[in-house]
Amino acid sequence: MAFHPRLFAALLVLLPAPALAQDMFKPLQDFVEDLVPRTKPAPRPAPVAKTAAETPPPLPKPRPEGLGEDVAKPVPEEPAAPAEDPAPPAEETTSQPEEAKPAPEPEADTRIYQVACPAMISGAVVAKMLPPIAEGVCMAQSPLEVTALTLNGRTVELTSPIATNCEMATALVDWAGEVDAYARAALDSEIAALQTGTSYMCRPRVGGGEAFTSEHGFANAVDVVGFTLADGRTVVVKDDWTPATTPEAKLLRQSHGAACGRFTTVLGPEANADHEDHLHLDLGCHGQTCTAQLCE
Ligand SMILES: [Zn+2]
Repeated sequence: MAFHPRLFAALLVLLPAPALAQDMFKPLQDFVEDLVPRTKPAPRPAPVAKTAAETPPPLPKPRPEGLGEDVAKPVPEEPAAPAEDPAPPAEETTSQPEEAKPAPEPEADTRIYQVACPAMISGAVVAKMLPPIAEGVCMAQSPLEVTALTLNGRTVELTSPIATNCEMATALVDWAGEVDAYARAALDSEIAALQTGTSYMCRPRVGGGEAFTSEHGFANAVDVVGFTLADGRTVVVKDDWTPATTPEAKLLRQSHGAACGRFTTVLGPEANADHEDHLHLDLGCHGQTCTAQLCE
């Protein structure tokens, strides 16, 4: 079939027509295209492979938490998931973290940072955590209420619970275990109870003037009054320190000497009149390197 030249020219003139037609229908096409992605999620099975490969960053919706880190993982694990426009997820990822942020901040402000006590975890010390102490100059971040000690495999009660820190509780159980072994060897009876006196108390140091706060004010000191033995005997500093030659006095003096190897401060009847009826034990810092000890 041959074209007439005029007809051919007319066709040339009409060539832009398809383009024009496209422009005319573009809005409609865009409208249709807009509809397509939205309707895709419904027929999920079909586009699985394509969409998984084409749209790496996906699915924030099912995982509201940890959006940033988890974004990459869900893709291979959940192929059935969809085919949503990359745009919407991006909006959600930016908006959700903003919503989540306000929550953690107040928690950080209100959290109380305390430390656990290994001696308590192991059972060497029977205790429970107490809230932080903040009473004027007196303070203790992680005080314990100790009710018993495990001495050589036995649970030995304290005659009254003590509030002290983990370091003191740990030194105390080690020291009391040593005294218990001595009691069994020298007095043929083991310790049945530890007679405890003052522990935490916010007060100035005895004989140190008002300017010095006692280690008791930092839950860093414990007073021990004496021991109750399994055979019923009681050995107390006030009554048994002297005469020095009795088995009971020897037990007390042995306990005093053993304490000097574990605490930085040990004060007994020979220190001053304030300590005639108990042994004061603490872990206060003496000297520039906290290695000096006071044993009286
Ligand atoms: Zn004391």
